[in-house]
Amino acid sequence: MNKITNHLPTAELQALDAAHHMHPFSCNDEIAKKGARVITRADGVFLTDSDGNEILDAMAGLWCVNIGYGRDELAEAAARQMRELPYYNTFFQTTTAPTIALAQKLAELAPGDLNHVFFGNSGSDANDTNIRLVRTYWAWKGQPERTIIVARKNAYHGSSVGSGSLGGMAYMHDVNSMPIPDIVHIDQPHWWAEGGDSTPEEFGLQTARALEAVIEEHGAERIAAFIGEPIQGAGGVIIPPETYWPEIQRICRKYDILLIADEVICGFGRTGNWFGSQTLGIEPDVMTVAKGLSSGYQPISASIVSDKVAKVMDGSDFFHGYTYSGHPVACAVALENLRILEDENIIDHVRNVAAPAMKAAWESLSDHPIVGDTRIEGLMGSLALTPDKTTRAKFATPEGTVGLICRENSFANNLVMRHVGDRMVISPPLVITPDEIKILITRARKALDDTY
Ligand code: PLP
Repeated sequence: MNKITNHLPTAELQALDAAHHMHPFSCNDEIAKKGARVITRADGVFLTDSDGNEILDAMAGLWCVNIGYGRDELAEAAARQMRELPYYNTFFQTTTAPTIALAQKLAELAPGDLNHVFFGNSGSDANDTNIRLVRTYWAWKGQPERTIIVARKNAYHGSSVGSGSLGGMAYMHDVNSMPIPDIVHIDQPHWWAEGGDSTPEEFGLQTARALEAVIEEHGAERIAAFIGEPIQGAGGVIIPPETYWPEIQRICRKYDILLIADEVICGFGRTGNWFGSQTLGIEPDVMTVAKGLSSGYQPISASIVSDKVAKVMDGSDFFHGYTYSGHPVACAVALENLRILEDENIIDHVRNVAAPAMKAAWESLSDHPIVGDTRIEGLMGSLALTPDKTTRAKFATPEGTVGLICRENSFANNLVMRHVGDRMVISPPLVITPDEIKILITRARKALDDTY
């Protein structure tokens, strides 16, 4: 524990937390009643809490600690850069060496001609950048009426007013004038929950063609872009049917609509390739990256854009940017993170070792009476919990059942999972070993058995 708190017992830390800390995405009164779990240390895939419990983090924090916890090299890269140049901005004709190196590295790693990088600090602000960027792109190409961005219901793109508007989470739209104008949400390709009697392949085509219906309704001359996560993460790890992305790609090409792949979760190895777009066969014009870019060791994000988009954007003043865009310390840490991913062949480990072991283990849970649909791609997986597998029924109160399994019972078994609606979700650090996968599955099964 660090020097600020190491003299305090857990109860006292929790009381201070309840008194002063407003938790994101939480009811603070609820947390105050139970007491927040205080995480004090971490190594590899394991967290340690203030009572000394060792917890397997099957969520890699918030889907981000791809190289695992406790890598000194990243701490050293940060310290080195802080001593040399802790900060300088990248506005007004200045830049820094780590910013240049990271932009060049991302251009090398990103597929196709995604060669140009605009830095931010979080996935949310990168998607805000994308809203302004694609609308500006069309304005500068002489088509200022192309302002509509098509997104999906149950997508997650961040929680700022712009990115939260792109997201399709209705509960986030209730206040704050969200969504902002000219965002249109189409159905998601979530066959298990919404596919009815159609086959997954039919449903994939049907949900993709909803994009074409929106284009026909508004006119292609009004549509700026389509945005989607290759695999919806926070929406419950929704892996689309195979027919979905090729059809979206075809429609975007046909009507000359920019395609934004939000790779904030799928990027940097999560699906067994550098980017989810490669796994799902998407050729985006713009890619949003964050999280795994630094494995969460520093806040940093980026919009990576194609030659075609950059050619237009580079021609005039784009009045947009953040004080910390291209922050040298965050860039130095991200570079070190990418070096580790490469030098230690971590993406090969996902593809050849961890993902096959996890797939077999995850699917073995399907013999449990309430486990329905079991889905996994690379190291992001989900399963639907249902009182009736044949009818794909939902629990009357998913929060009280699925929430109980994935939060309380999972935590009680020293495992961090996540619950999204009726789905139980995992996204462990990419360095997880087959032995650690066995521990994960034993604890997940226990969390299920403790409830049913
Ligand atoms: N995009 C996707 C796909 C995400 O999953 C998230 C966060 O989970 C975001 C954007 C927002 O990122 P941040 O929380 O860093 O703002």
